[in-house]
Amino acid sequence: MHEMSLALALVGLVEERARGEGAARVLTVGVAVGRLGHVEPEALAFCLDGAARGTLVEGARFAIEERPGRAWCFDCAAEVGLDRRGAPCPGCGGHMLRVAGGEELRVTTMEIA
Ligand SMILES: [Zn+2]
Repeated sequence: MHEMSLALALVGLVEERARGEGAARVLTVGVAVGRLGHVEPEALAFCLDGAARGTLVEGARFAIEERPGRAWCFDCAAEVGLDRRGAPCPGCGGHMLRVAGGEELRVTTMEIA
């Protein structure tokens, strides 16, 4: 399950940042997950709880925020929204698309105590 390795990496990053700021523990962590990435938000949330165990991040609330996908449609010559990878252009139904955003996985906010 690759969400687990991503979760471990995210928790490691958050813990390092929290430690750098002298935090005793981490209360909330905001995570942005792009819809066109390869991460299942529910699986990620589950893995984050597990990955946080025994770290400064244990017990933190993970606020996972899904980011919409964006793509450039060559037929419409415009940027369009995309719900999932492989979906057709919502404007013309075509597949001449190049993903332009919505693949990210990153920590956006962090609240420490
Ligand atoms: Zn189009």
